[in-house]
Amino acid sequence: MIPELPLFEQFPGLKEGLPHDNVCDLPSPIKKLNNVGEKLGLDHLYMKQDGIIGHPFGGNKVRKLEFLIADARRRGCKEVMTFGFAGSNHALATAVYASYAGLMSTSMLLPQPNAHYVRRNLLMSWKYDAELHQYPNKLLLSISTWYQLLRHRKITGKKPYVIPPGGSLPLGAAGFVNAAFELKQQIQQGQIPEPARIYVPMGTAGTYVGLLIGLKALDLKSQIFPVRVVDKHFTDEGKILKLFSDTVTLLRSSDPSFPGVQLSPDEIEINENFLGEGYARFTKEGMEAVSLMEETQGIQLDGTYTGKTFAALIADAGEQRIKKDDVVLFWNTLNAEDFSDEIEDIDYHELPKAFHRYFEQDVQPLDRSG
Ligand SMILES: *Cc1c(COP(=O)(O)O)cnc(C)c1O
Repeated sequence: MIPELPLFEQFPGLKEGLPHDNVCDLPSPIKKLNNVGEKLGLDHLYMKQDGIIGHPFGGNKVRKLEFLIADARRRGCKEVMTFGFAGSNHALATAVYASYAGLMSTSMLLPQPNAHYVRRNLLMSWKYDAELHQYPNKLLLSISTWYQLLRHRKITGKKPYVIPPGGSLPLGAAGFVNAAFELKQQIQQGQIPEPARIYVPMGTAGTYVGLLIGLKALDLKSQIFPVRVVDKHFTDEGKILKLFSDTVTLLRSSDPSFPGVQLSPDEIEINENFLGEGYARFTKEGMEAVSLMEETQGIQLDGTYTGKTFAALIADAGEQRIKKDDVVLFWNTLNAEDFSDEIEDIDYHELPKAFHRYFEQDVQPLDRSG
């Protein structure tokens, strides 16, 4: 038997009202990181392992897609369309889990700095039959989106279900509201003491906002420390406030007993110091964090999201903003499943021409991973 989501157990109205398919392998385990904790002078450093919640592709996006793909099916859509940068984990996760649900998928992508993972993600999206498009800028992407929506509607007779970048719709963020409830259960079971600090990357903010709502609704004292990994014009304070209130409104419309929690602008404190030159541009600090985690724990982080976030945690430990006996939770949002077998026979020349350059040009200098 698949266990019920803790959010649904506590608020049965949400189970009735919200579309949801069991896709994730939940709860994600919590692991104590003794080796790296010792290096950083932290006695209680833990990691939430969202990397292994989905097969063949895990990571934070799968929590959101459990709800979004169920919604697409409930609405009778035959395909989904989503957006991101060329190597987007979200676009790949959407392609994989749409395909498992029998839906076609289209990814509308923008260019990004090259890295090995971009190649892997593109090949894997191709393997899962995603229709891939790349446009040089946002304007061409929006124009082409209208065109593709019409074209697809003509083919299937129904508009594709549109999922914005990162899946950060209120319904997607609900997946991370549940993640906070899951954490609460793990605290009650004694797997981790109540954390003083939780570190998460902040991209499109569904992860951060969902967790924040859940922590507030549960009255947990944990402070979230979101670390910016995308440029400011993609996710600003206004977007965070709107996603927060829209998500609470959605939950309360299905179950009015869900607490009417609020967020004031001065509570939003995003660590802006580790983005470096921009989205997916690896930084020295980020890659040092990746190496440290690999050497001490054998755990793989990445240069776009989790390395930058762990670098922020390292800096906070070094500058004594974290105390030795604070309980710290590093929320690892990165896929940890190895899918290299699935893509080894794919020739990149099969992909649309716009993507060949990721295979023909060098990766950025700081990307040493294979
Ligand atoms: C997308 C992504 C994030 C950011 O999550 P948001 O909900 O978009 O803020 C963090 N880590 C990884 C590995 C991701 O793929």
